[in-house]
Amino acid sequence: AADLPALSESDPTAKALGYVEDATKTANAKHKAGDDCTNCQFYTGGPTGRGPCQLFPGKSVNAKGWCVSHTPKKA
Ligand code: SF4
Repeated sequence: AADLPALSESDPTAKALGYVEDATKTANAKHKAGDDCTNCQFYTGGPTGRGPCQLFPGKSVNAKGWCVSHTPKKA
């Protein structure tokens, strides 16, 4: 899974979901401080680097990335 090609911010689906590589840099009003892929339930990668997201099959997202579909991981 670590070898999945990186999702690009310019990918049409990524754009549609407002995906950014750096959650701290998004200007999207839906972003809540502290939210990034590592605490999203759709992310199955590790705490650093890149990993898979269920919403972007076949691609890897940045652990510190974010998109509007962010859903907090269940405890
Ligand atoms: Fe990251 Fe979650 Fe968006 Fe996937 S759905 S890109 S893991 S914030």
